[in-house]
Amino acid sequence: MNLADKLTQEEYKKNFEELVSPFTNNSAVAEANRCLYCYDSPCMKACPTHIDISTFIKKIATGNLLGSAKTIFDSNWIALTCAKSCPVEVLCEGACVYVEKGEKPIEIGRLQRFAIDNYFSSGMPKLFNAKPKNGKSVGIIGSGPASLACGAELSLLGYDVQIYESNEVPGGLSTWGIAPYKMSKADSLKEVEMIKGLGVNIQTGVTVGESISVKELFNKHDALFIGIGLGESGRLSIPGEDLEGVIGALKFIENVKEENWSSVNVGRHVAVIGAGNTSIDAATEAKRLGAEEVIIVYRRSESEMPANDWEYRLAKDDGIIFRFLTSPIEIIGNKSVESIKCTKNKLGEPDKQGRKKPVPIPNSEFIIPVDMVIYALGQQPKLKFINSIPDLKIESNKVLVNNVTFQTSNPKVFAGGDCINGGKEVVNAAYDGKQAAYGIDKFLNS
Ligand SMILES: Cc1cc2nc3c(=O)[nH]c(=O)nc-3n(C[C@H](O)[C@H](O)[C@H](O)COP(=O)(O)OP(=O)(O)OC[C@H]3O[C@@H](n4cnc5c(N)ncnc54)[C@H](O)[C@@H]3O)c2cc1C
Repeated sequence: MNLADKLTQEEYKKNFEELVSPFTNNSAVAEANRCLYCYDSPCMKACPTHIDISTFIKKIATGNLLGSAKTIFDSNWIALTCAKSCPVEVLCEGACVYVEKGEKPIEIGRLQRFAIDNYFSSGMPKLFNAKPKNGKSVGIIGSGPASLACGAELSLLGYDVQIYESNEVPGGLSTWGIAPYKMSKADSLKEVEMIKGLGVNIQTGVTVGESISVKELFNKHDALFIGIGLGESGRLSIPGEDLEGVIGALKFIENVKEENWSSVNVGRHVAVIGAGNTSIDAATEAKRLGAEEVIIVYRRSESEMPANDWEYRLAKDDGIIFRFLTSPIEIIGNKSVESIKCTKNKLGEPDKQGRKKPVPIPNSEFIIPVDMVIYALGQQPKLKFINSIPDLKIESNKVLVNNVTFQTSNPKVFAGGDCINGGKEVVNAAYDGKQAAYGIDKFLNS
C-alpha cells in the first residue's frame, strides 16, 4: 500500500480537534437567555429521551449549573455523548421555534454540553440517591450507551448491576466509533466513570457466549439486558477484497480512535464504498490523516444517500469527492490494492424500502486508481449470539421487544439500542436502556 506522508503531531492535533467549541460562561448565559421557554416545548418532544430542555436552559440562565445537569440526567444518562454527537439539526434544534421564524435555533447541544462539562469539572458531585439494595441482580451484556443507561437506572432503583463487555475498554461505539472531531475517547470514558460511580460494575474483556456462557448468566442474575449493538460491516463480495489495503470502516475508525494517529495506515488515494454516516466518518478521518484524495463511491444518486446533511456538508468541506451512481465490481492489485474497477449505474424501479434500485449500465466500466479501499456497507446484526439465547424472537434481523417495557419474547430478557433498531443514534440507545430498566423493575416486582 502506498502510504500517505506522515503529518506532524501539531497537524494531526489540529485536524482532529473538536469542530464545535465549548461556550464560555458569558456566551452560555447569553444563549440561554435567547430561549423563549415555549409552553409546548417542541424541542423536548423532538428529543428521543424527552429531556426537559427549557428547564435545563433556564437553570443555566440563572447560574444553577448542577441543577441544570440534574434535569438533563433525569432523562438521559448519556448526556455528554449526546450533547457532542447528536444530529441536533434534525432533533431538538430542528424543532426550535426560531427555525420556523427563519432565525438561528437555540444551540441546545452546546448548552447541554456546557452544563455537563461543568458537572464533570466540579468533580461529579452526587446528584441522585439510590434506593436501598433490593437483593436482586441484573446482568447486562455490552457496555455501550444502551447498557450504560440501563445499568445507571437499575442501580438507582436498588439492583446489583453487572455489565459484561468484550472489549478491554468500555463504552461501546461512544468510545470506539464516534468521530474524534465530535468527541474524544476520554469524553466517553468520563461518562463510563460517572455510571460506575452510581454503583454499576463493569467487567471488561469478557465476551458472553465465549468467556462466560449465557446459561451461567441466567443462573447468576434475575434478569438480563442485551445491549450488544451490531457487528462488523457487511463484506463487498467482489474479487480482490482480501488484498492488502482493503479494510472495514469500523476497524479503520477504531484505529483512529486510539488517537495514535501517526501509526494508523492510510493510503494516498482512498476509495470509501457506501455513503452513510459511517462512510463519511471514515472518509473525513482518512483525509484528516493525510490522504491526498478520498473518493466516496455510492451506487445510487445524491438524493438516496443515507448520510445526513450535516455529515455531507462536512465531507464536502473536507474536499471528499463523491462518485454517485457508481458500483465497485473488482479491486485490482498484485499483493495490495492498485485500483478499483467500477461500473456506472442508472436508477430503476423502487426496492422494498421504496428506494430506486441501481441498475448497471452495460459497457460503462472504468478504473479509479487507489491504494486503499474502506468499505462501509452497514453493520451486520450479531445473529449467532442472538440465536444462542433461548426463546428470543427476531424480526428483520432485529431483536423483537415490547416497545414500552423493552422485554423480549423471553420474559427474563430485555434489550435495547442498535440490536433492536438496526442502528440508529446514541440518543435512541440512551432512551431504550433507561426504559428497559423500568421494564425490568416492573417485571421483577410483579
Ligand atoms: C462509525 C460510527 C459513528 C457513529 N457516530 C454517531 C454520532 O456521531 N452520533 C450518534 O448519535 N450516533 C452515532 N453512531 C451510532 C451510535 O454509536 C450507536 O447508535 C450506539 O452506540 C448504539 O449503542 P448500543 O449500546 O446499542 O451499542 P454499541 O455502542 O455498539 O455497544 C455494544 C457493546 O456491546 C459489546 N458486546 C457485543 N457483544 C458482546 C458479547 N457477546 N459479550 C460482551 N460484550 C459484547 C460490544 O463490544 C460493544 O461495546 C455511530 C455509529 C458508528 C458505527
